[in-house]
Amino acid sequence: MSANPMLLVNADLHCHSNVSDGTLAPEDVAARAHRNGVQLWALTDHDEVGGQARARRAAHALGMDYLTGTEISVSFAHQTVHIVGLGFDEEDTELVQGLVTTRGGRERRARDMADGLARVGIPGAFEGALKYVGNPDLISRTHFARYLVEAGVCSDTHEVFRHYLTEGKPGYVEHRWASLRDAVRWITQAGGVAVIAHPGRYDFTPNEEFALFSEFKSHGGRGVEVVTGSHTQAEYGKYADMAVEFDLLASRGSDFHDPAESHTDLGTLPGLPSRLTPVWEALASRIARA
Ligand code: AMP
Ligand code: MN
Ligand code: MN
Ligand code: MN
Repeated sequence: MSANPMLLVNADLHCHSNVSDGTLAPEDVAARAHRNGVQLWALTDHDEVGGQARARRAAHALGMDYLTGTEISVSFAHQTVHIVGLGFDEEDTELVQGLVTTRGGRERRARDMADGLARVGIPGAFEGALKYVGNPDLISRTHFARYLVEAGVCSDTHEVFRHYLTEGKPGYVEHRWASLRDAVRWITQAGGVAVIAHPGRYDFTPNEEFALFSEFKSHGGRGVEVVTGSHTQAEYGKYADMAVEFDLLASRGSDFHDPAESHTDLGTLPGLPSRLTPVWEALASRIARA
């Protein structure tokens, strides 16, 4: 059997700009992707499609094909799960309204996070984090992490997450995001494909993980990230097997946020294992060609 030529496309379908918690403007993410050889690109800002038109325009000016993208925050089994949407109509009313609602609690949550940090002797974190925010609707833990590095509390953002911003730590606040059912439905009804983002990052038991994949499929979800900057080599294999087991399309994306913070640069990951069907094959008719 000859290899599927679609597997050879350098697709990067997961990354962030300063429209969410990345540091580069959509145009600069596009330029970096192009410089690194990306041929098919999607900008997937958290809970937001405000950067899509700029991203697509920049991609086309550089000769890159483009898929619309977003990464929706979902609560599932007492954890936060991310669902990437690809190839949807970014003007779809229900999707747009769903994202507005999902973003809605972020400011309240950020104030509560700042209160938690103040209680352990770190004042002014809300105002500090805001200095790093590119989109006032999208204040995120990443912006707090950047401020705490600036304030000298930690030496890098990963350390801030470990000590201050994850469950049980002083700046962590429980939050209720979208439901899995709604997130998958918003994406799917807008003509796109829903993809489970970086499944290796969650802290699920095998039973919970099985439930995530099963329920995701039952709601109409069709894809899973196999090759992502968040996975180890071993996880590429594990989630390739799960893609086959659950008959899911496979996706590939760096999850790039910032040149210094991100371990994985745009377009530099290995290709998908040859036994998988790339999600961009199923989305061929939704690709905005350069
Ligand atoms: P939020 O949506 O506000 O909960 O922020 C989630 C974002 O924080 C993720 O999309 C990552 O960009 C970042 N993040 C989460 N965990 C870590 C970590 N351990 N180290 C660095 N960044 C992280
Ligand atoms: Mn992020
Ligand atoms: Mn994510
Ligand atoms: Mn991401």
